[in-house]
Amino acid sequence: MANYMGSDCRICRRENVKLFLKGDRCYSDKCAFDRRSYPPGEHGERRGRKISDYGIQLREKQKIKRIYGLSEKQFHLFFERADRQKGITGANLLIALERRLDNVVYRLGFSNSRTQARQLVQHSHFLVNGKKVNIPSMLVRVGDVVEVRERSRKIQLIQDSLDAVVRRGVPQWLDLEKDNLKGVIKSLPVREDLTMPMQEQLVVELYSK
Ligand code: SF4
Repeated sequence: MANYMGSDCRICRRENVKLFLKGDRCYSDKCAFDRRSYPPGEHGERRGRKISDYGIQLREKQKIKRIYGLSEKQFHLFFERADRQKGITGANLLIALERRLDNVVYRLGFSNSRTQARQLVQHSHFLVNGKKVNIPSMLVRVGDVVEVRERSRKIQLIQDSLDAVVRRGVPQWLDLEKDNLKGVIKSLPVREDLTMPMQEQLVVELYSK
């Protein structure tokens, strides 16, 4: 993850929610959050401290930023773009994050985490509408076809991830042709498609200060 070199599992424990950052491990009994669901650190088990409104907004922003694995600067750019669009800024933000190519690769099941997806995209293992791409932040559009390149089809990580995607499912706005290692963007995601606990309004309030 950009700008964060610590353990992914510490992030889940810090944000007090499973963020599913480590692929298969998150569904196993090795999940650190399931084993120790209190914040990391010496005083981690001490709960009940009063947090200010600013602190709550900040934590929510950090959480969403970490789910998508973005740096502060990248996240803020997405926010500014969402703010310029018509509609509800918070929903615009989440929908734009979902439309990132690395997220789509993860959602289609070609990787077990967004971090893996980003690396695979950067190493040019995918075509979008028949063209080689290596930009994880590219936003997909309705009708786009994302597929694994011919030369990359035997990569074990991709094969294993496709087997595992059955467990988490493919969102309804995407259509996966598993045998062809291909996915189609059927429609743009809507807010209701996002099932992780995210309170995007708190991010809007934070950046509006
Ligand atoms: Fe979070 Fe558990 Fe996955 Fe670690 S294994 S990233 S704690 S969900």
